[in-house]
Amino acid sequence: EEGGGGSAGSPGPGQGGDGWFTETCTLWPGQAMSLQVEEVLYHQKSKFQDVMVFKSKTYGNVLVLDGVIQCTERDEFSYQEMIANLPLCCHPCPKKVLIIGGGDGGVLREVVKHPLVESVVQCEIDEDVINVSKKYLPGMANGFFSPKLTLNVGDGFEFMKQNQDAFDVIITDSSDPVGPAESLFKESYYQLMKTALRDGGILCCQGECQWLHLELIKEMYSFSKTLFPVVDYAYCTIPTYPSGQIGFMLCSKNPVTNFREPVRELPKEEVENMKLKYYNSDVHRAAFVLPEFARKVSARPFMCSL
Ligand code: SAM
Repeated sequence: EEGGGGSAGSPGPGQGGDGWFTETCTLWPGQAMSLQVEEVLYHQKSKFQDVMVFKSKTYGNVLVLDGVIQCTERDEFSYQEMIANLPLCCHPCPKKVLIIGGGDGGVLREVVKHPLVESVVQCEIDEDVINVSKKYLPGMANGFFSPKLTLNVGDGFEFMKQNQDAFDVIITDSSDPVGPAESLFKESYYQLMKTALRDGGILCCQGECQWLHLELIKEMYSFSKTLFPVVDYAYCTIPTYPSGQIGFMLCSKNPVTNFREPVRELPKEEVENMKLKYYNSDVHRAAFVLPEFARKVSARPFMCSL
């Protein structure tokens, strides 16, 4: 079986059964995350994937694609704030932003808060995810109503091919590399993003988990280093992603970028104005400090020994 095999009790995904949703997947063999289900709110197959939303006992509404948890209302802010603000706060003037994936709208919600962002293009493959999120995850999907947004429904890989020298920041908020998002973890996609970025442009991609995917991270780090002068890796904690954390692959076309030191420092009042609950400038700096087993493969001082 490829990819996710999540189920909400028996007899099948979203059917109720024992009242628990259990997330199993070939990408994290031998372990599973379970959430108690109050009610399955939506469950349909889209053109691309199995789409489910359920109301959980303690994590609010939960979006699940192909059996894999994408976001929960309780902890989504950690990932969304970090994948948006790590690149935005490292670019001196991020006027034009592209988001690939992100159908729940949470990353968009964070990006449009940035005062220098003038326009955002988003390309999500699955319109059903957008519509379901508008209905059941309104706190995330409110970004879709921003006047800064131009929304495209289509494959992010194909969309990238049509853009040259167009964006200051590209954020790839994709699902895992099985199913429709597989191409978004490949070197050819990073090459296309490089072409789509303006001079000095920065990208930030969902970078999986140090505890589970070190080989994939190492591979992405290695090919990124052949394409970009500056590459770095950061992570955040989040209870409902596999093993409780998720990482971010960051690349810059500007050789003087130092991802570890934000060019835009956020004073306390601005953190409050932007209603941030996870990201602040200290968390930004700390996010690049990796445990030793991961530092060996994805921190600068060790890169020559890769
Ligand atoms: N933060 C989540 C995570 O790490 O699991 C991802 C959330 S977001 C819902 C992921 C989105 O990527 C989904 O809506 C999915 O439809 C979209 N997606 C997957 N493959 C894509 C592709 N090739 N082009 C554009 N969007 C894609």
